[in-house]
Amino acid sequence: MGNDERLRADIVEVGRRLHDRGFVASNDGNISVRIGDDRLVTTPTGVSKGFMTPDMMVTTDLSGRKLAGDREPSSELLMHLAVYEHRPEIRAVVHAHPPTATGFAVAGIALDRAVLAEVVCTLGSIPIADYGTPSTSELADAVRRHIRAHDGLLLANHGALTIADELYAAYYKMETVEHFARISLVARQLGRENLLSREEVDRLQGLRDRYGIAAPAPLCPPDGGADEDCQVLEAPSSPGRRLVDPAAPAPASPDVPPAAAGRRGPGGGGVPGDDEVRLTYRELTALIADAVTQLR
Ligand SMILES: [Zn+2]
Repeated sequence: MGNDERLRADIVEVGRRLHDRGFVASNDGNISVRIGDDRLVTTPTGVSKGFMTPDMMVTTDLSGRKLAGDREPSSELLMHLAVYEHRPEIRAVVHAHPPTATGFAVAGIALDRAVLAEVVCTLGSIPIADYGTPSTSELADAVRRHIRAHDGLLLANHGALTIADELYAAYYKMETVEHFARISLVARQLGRENLLSREEVDRLQGLRDRYGIAAPAPLCPPDGGADEDCQVLEAPSSPGRRLVDPAAPAPASPDVPPAAAGRRGPGGGGVPGDDEVRLTYRELTALIADAVTQLR
């Protein structure tokens, strides 16, 4: 089997896995792989990714112009081209609509909390690219704003995108994004999410070299805000501790900044001072009666 044939067979296999795992429905999703400096092979538009054959693939140049293939390239090719333009080391892009990760994208909740050691070590933070109409340059522009610093993105009200230096690595990152989303959802349903401390995150990301993990980008400085070349990850500084419960009062140590304190609503950011108020049934009834009177 030649290289091109092998590559097409691998794209078929990854498409089948995306479909089998329920990461795509109907004709959703698309995959591309870059070959050499000037070409890429992409899935065609209008087919289920679970039922592709190698001969369906389309070859284009890096501006998206078709070079070979009976079908038309994926309608989301612009998004893939934006990735290859800004990350020359990237050889594969996978786009799908995995339901839990896409649920976070619909809710507008980024997967940007330091929760799982393996995710912190590999992907780091998974932000949300702004909503853009699918298949337009809007979506490609939204991806462009994050792709220099991230290997995994949520796409607002749409799906997820993962990239890597080879096809299976990009696919596995899609699995990681969805797995991380499921675990985050369960933890939030349970009402509690301990975070890795900033110091532990630094330690984990320091291990990347040892395991040969190509780091997408360093963390932004704690007070530096968002930047296109660094990652924002919620990890409270807490020297000497590996795990932090952000809902618990900050220890009285002067070394620990008060940012770690504050209550957290389900799925929301920390809201310092937003303490829970409990009312008895009688108090609640009186409040409602009062509000109804004022409405009249
Ligand atoms: Zn899509």
